[in-house]
Amino acid sequence: MANKRQRKKNEKKAQISKLSQSMLTPIRRPSPALYHGKYTEANKGYQAQLDQVYQGTVQPVERFINLNANILHYCSECDSEFYAAGKYLLNPHKEHVCYTINGAGSNKHKVVKKSIKPDEFIGRFNFMVWNDYSWRKIAQELGINPKIVKSYFEEEGLL
Ligand SMILES: [Zn+2]
Repeated sequence: MANKRQRKKNEKKAQISKLSQSMLTPIRRPSPALYHGKYTEANKGYQAQLDQVYQGTVQPVERFINLNANILHYCSECDSEFYAAGKYLLNPHKEHVCYTINGAGSNKHKVVKKSIKPDEFIGRFNFMVWNDYSWRKIAQELGINPKIVKSYFEEEGLL
């Protein structure tokens, strides 16, 4: 009798832990690929403006309303989604940069990069500068703060 009661108790326990587990598991947002293409036609004009700044890497995922509205964007360069208003993304001082450190802004985000050995780092940096990579691209490739690369470019008269 006691065993049966114990078993029932254990079953209940298992049910509860299963339930709380499913409640604790965060609901994963569907991949941005699911939305892609949905508003291509509606977002055409805005996409053209974005392309002038990002060469096609940043795309609006949700329907574009106006430049003040925060809508979901997707950046294929750092493979991330973020909410931002068009006026910021198109502003050269507030544009989206593929961040490697914790950015506090809504259009900044973290990219985890493997660390590179110092001499390999310099070699790759020089290679990219010689091959006309943009400062943004170099920062992304090397996983360093884009601001540092940008100021290097400015100092070297490359911008
Ligand atoms: Zn990015």
